[in-house]
Amino acid sequence: MNLILMGLPGAGKGTQAEKITKTYAVPHISTGDMFRSAIKEGTTLGKKAKAFMDEGNLVPDEVTIGIVEERLQKDDCKDGFLLDGFPRTIAQAEALDALLSSMNKRIDHVLHIDVPEENLVERLTGRRICPSCGATYHVLYNPPKEEGKCDNDNSELIQRDDDQPETVKNRLAVNIKQTQPLLDFYQKQGYLKTINGNQDINDVFADIQAILG
Ligand code: ADP
Ligand code: ADP
Repeated sequence: MNLILMGLPGAGKGTQAEKITKTYAVPHISTGDMFRSAIKEGTTLGKKAKAFMDEGNLVPDEVTIGIVEERLQKDDCKDGFLLDGFPRTIAQAEALDALLSSMNKRIDHVLHIDVPEENLVERLTGRRICPSCGATYHVLYNPPKEEGKCDNDNSELIQRDDDQPETVKNRLAVNIKQTQPLLDFYQKQGYLKTINGNQDINDVFADIQAILG
């Protein structure tokens, strides 16, 4: 099963990806997570990505496409994958098409989690993540059992640098501009499935399961 998760920042991609990978045993490929760990490790990739991410801008296509191409050729993607946060531009979508056809693969579904723009600022500024396992929480909508601590490994939860209110506004503006052409691109190809993301986390997942079977 070759899947793409689409949605504006804060729509719930990471949250649903956690559930999808548990149920369907496909590797979760998040370009945002890949950039964040590269920054943490201080690699060349991390150095290239950091300034763009800090401003809420997109990392250039050639950098992003390169890391995804490398990742999709790894053995664990043989029977499927879940792309989260990629593609985000038409150039990335076209590069992905070319790569998949050279590998004799195709996309099965593009799952678009749709949430009204006015809800996203609150979702992003209230987001907390576990620096150890990557689990995502929300101070109001998905709180951990013990305040500030990860349910899985008890680590101290943190706020992403780019979830500060000043960065959030630019990130949303950048992504809103890129999204519609991408939705049209996948609509034309017949892969696009739009899911109402403005409901309880478990109800969003139930809608995804109804599509994936
Ligand atoms: P994305 O990966 O699309 O940026 P996340 O999965 O990180 O989104 O979710 C953004 C924030 O919103 C997180 O704090 C998450 O806990 C919360 N969230 C996710 N899905 C929902 C939902 N259906 N209702 C309310 N809050 C949600
Ligand atoms: P969100 O969960 O809020 O949707 P991500 O974790 O997917 O955010 O991405 C965080 C940042 O990483 C983006 O703001 C951007 O700078 C960079 N990034 C992630 N994916 C891409 C991509 N496909 N193209 C360019 N930049 C990306």
